[in-house]
Amino acid sequence: MSDLFWPRRQQHFIRMVELSQPNSLNKDVLNLLGRILSMVNALRSLQSLGDAGKPLRESIKKTIANHLSSASGFVQDDDSSRMLAYAAEGLTSPDSNRAMGPLLAGLNEKEVVGYVGGLTTWLGKTRSLFYSAFFGTPNARLQRVSDIIDGHFQESLLRINEQLGSSLRTVPGCSYKIIDLFGIAGEANSFPKHFAYFLPEDHGVKHSSVKRTVVFANTYKSLYEHISLQQISLFGWTAEQLPALEEVDEYLIAWFRGHDLGHSIVLKETDYAALSRCDRWGSMVVQEAVADVFGYLVSQDPEVVARLGLDPAKAARVYMLELLRYLRRGPALFPDAGAAYIQLRLLEECAVVVKEGARMRVDLHRFHAGMVYVAQVLLNNVLNADADTFKQFISRYSPHLLENSGEDLLYGMDICDMALGYHQALTEGNDSGVQ
Ligand SMILES: [Zn+2]
Repeated sequence: MSDLFWPRRQQHFIRMVELSQPNSLNKDVLNLLGRILSMVNALRSLQSLGDAGKPLRESIKKTIANHLSSASGFVQDDDSSRMLAYAAEGLTSPDSNRAMGPLLAGLNEKEVVGYVGGLTTWLGKTRSLFYSAFFGTPNARLQRVSDIIDGHFQESLLRINEQLGSSLRTVPGCSYKIIDLFGIAGEANSFPKHFAYFLPEDHGVKHSSVKRTVVFANTYKSLYEHISLQQISLFGWTAEQLPALEEVDEYLIAWFRGHDLGHSIVLKETDYAALSRCDRWGSMVVQEAVADVFGYLVSQDPEVVARLGLDPAKAARVYMLELLRYLRRGPALFPDAGAAYIQLRLLEECAVVVKEGARMRVDLHRFHAGMVYVAQVLLNNVLNADADTFKQFISRYSPHLLENSGEDLLYGMDICDMALGYHQALTEGNDSGVQ
């Protein structure tokens, strides 16, 4: 049970959300995938036995591989069929798993997307890989949003360079696959839930020329709905001032794809390896901040906004709510949370965010200018920084170095002890444990 929840807290509130079975997949495939998920839960449990559990694990893996191969024969779409076959092959040995990583990342499935095998989890929890599986169906509506961001990326970067007087460029990034999750098991189904995996890196393949981020759109939206949105009273906003729930995922995905692309934005002088040698955690925090801020600017590029029909004021409000959600996970426990803290502090410094008692006031007219200011600060102290400049910056702004400084890292708010849990139609009745 202790492995199931992280970080260790006095209590965890679980908000259950439904993962319904997709109508687009045939019953034979769904039956096989349901059985695979139950077996992956068993594999994950058996990992606590160490070597003693190995024979049983090997036998279960063989059965899972057989089920995956059978399922690959039932799907119509070639890449979906390949995904299931590659996943089966990846289970046969560590070498096969490494070899399958780039092949899986290069697919463009139309029917079903998934993975079965070892996956990493939260960095502060462990660096080990644990057995996991997930399956989802491609979300074409949100994939279009992400594709539009991709199509405008280079132009939007030119406009950002004009604004900042910088020479930002890009290194090769990764593709994006947006799915609605319908089944998940093993470590990936522990708490808190991930809403994206970076593949093949997260299944232990450090270097690959082919990379893909798989995003669980329904999980992401649930995090917004059940956590971020609950914070609106802090800002005095009404529901009408935010995107309706039917369209908010377009705002979320526009920014998150921007964030992903933001990881590929650098200057000629950028040297993350040097920053990492200086302070590994700090370098991860600032890289997340760079991705967040430039991702926001990319998603708010005038042409992107026009093409997607986004309302910039609503986008700014959604972004603020998301920053608080990230922060309240624990400022020094997650690099993303540290990144949120840095942005809030810098937005406060330029008076775009003002703390007023228990409330927070956001100057929406100056919000974009505020984010440009934050980008400029990151340009000087991270992207274009030597180790000393970076060190000074994180000593002032990164929560992991401020924990005992007396600073209120949570801006008067509480840690969020709410996490999502899944009701899974696919495995309900097959399992008796917490899903
Ligand atoms: Zn990131």
